[in-house]
Amino acid sequence: MKTISIIIPAYNEEENVPLIYERIDKEFTKLAYDYEICFINDASTDHTLEEIKRLAMVTPKVKYISFSRNFGKEAALLAGLQHANGRAVIIMDADLQHPPSLIPSLLQGYEEGFDQVIARRNRNGEHAVKKFLSSSYYRIINKIVDVELEDGVGDFRLLSEKAVQALLSLNEGQRFSKGLFSWIGMEQKIIDYDNVLRENGDTKWSFAKLLNYGFDGLISFNNRPLRMCFYTGLIVLFLSIAYSVAMLIQVMNEGIVVPGYFTLITAVLILGGIQLVSLGVIGEYIGRIYYETKKRPPYLIQETNFGNGEQYEKNQTRIYQIRHNRGNQYL
Ligand code: UDP
Ligand code: MG
Repeated sequence: MKTISIIIPAYNEEENVPLIYERIDKEFTKLAYDYEICFINDASTDHTLEEIKRLAMVTPKVKYISFSRNFGKEAALLAGLQHANGRAVIIMDADLQHPPSLIPSLLQGYEEGFDQVIARRNRNGEHAVKKFLSSSYYRIINKIVDVELEDGVGDFRLLSEKAVQALLSLNEGQRFSKGLFSWIGMEQKIIDYDNVLRENGDTKWSFAKLLNYGFDGLISFNNRPLRMCFYTGLIVLFLSIAYSVAMLIQVMNEGIVVPGYFTLITAVLILGGIQLVSLGVIGEYIGRIYYETKKRPPYLIQETNFGNGEQYEKNQTRIYQIRHNRGNQYL
């Protein structure tokens, strides 16, 4: 029987951990697959880790990795992908917003030979403002970035072994999974489901966090914003030169008239604004280079029951081979 690994990042999800285990276990009794659940405890401050350990004592199917501090969901996903033993991997949230009842359909897509089986939610039951903001964001960002980002498509998906290896071979430290999933491409199948609202615990996404996440999406996937700064600068430069020449001709013809406070202040303010925005964008890219050059590990493990990390070593060796012997393109 093939083993499927289910990766679940969990941050303060003490009520949800036993529930999601039960629901997943129930689904698999009907299926011809073995499974393991890899909980990634992102340094929860409640009893999430205790709950996970309690399950792990009862069944060897429950594995866990516990971080030394809160490294965020992206790091948790990476840790899960690096350690998972299964042939295929299913990524889902701990909060039951990704219904385990979809697992059979995801596996069916896997059997049909798809490398990514993606669960897509609608936005039923969400606040109208949030709906509007998200759909506008996706409309705009897809015009700017190189990969296709789709509304309602998140981390809830099944990845074949090939897709997992591909994802792991991308060694950027600051990961924007939504974009990475899209970047690797491969055969994809989409399954639609109805949005589920969170029952227990709170969402960890504040508006500011969402805004930053949106910005990450914009910056992570190309250098077009830098290019835009360059073009804006160029246009402003040409306009200013044209304006100065016109002014010069005017001064030569008519002498100096009333000193133009308005034009002066407008020019200074607009130029100042453009320069600051451009500097900000450039700074953002430099900041990323700064973090990438440090090559810090994306997370640190405090404790785990993944044994001696055999699968992790295997994955690392495989990725090393992909990078150094055969080039990235052959997986
Ligand atoms: N999560 C995490 N680390 C964090 C924040 C969230 O591992 O710093 C996990 C969280 O426990 C959940 C998933 O990521 O399983 C999605 O979080 P949440 O439900 O808050 O996001 P939303 O569904 O509102 O997008
Ligand atoms: Mg959620």
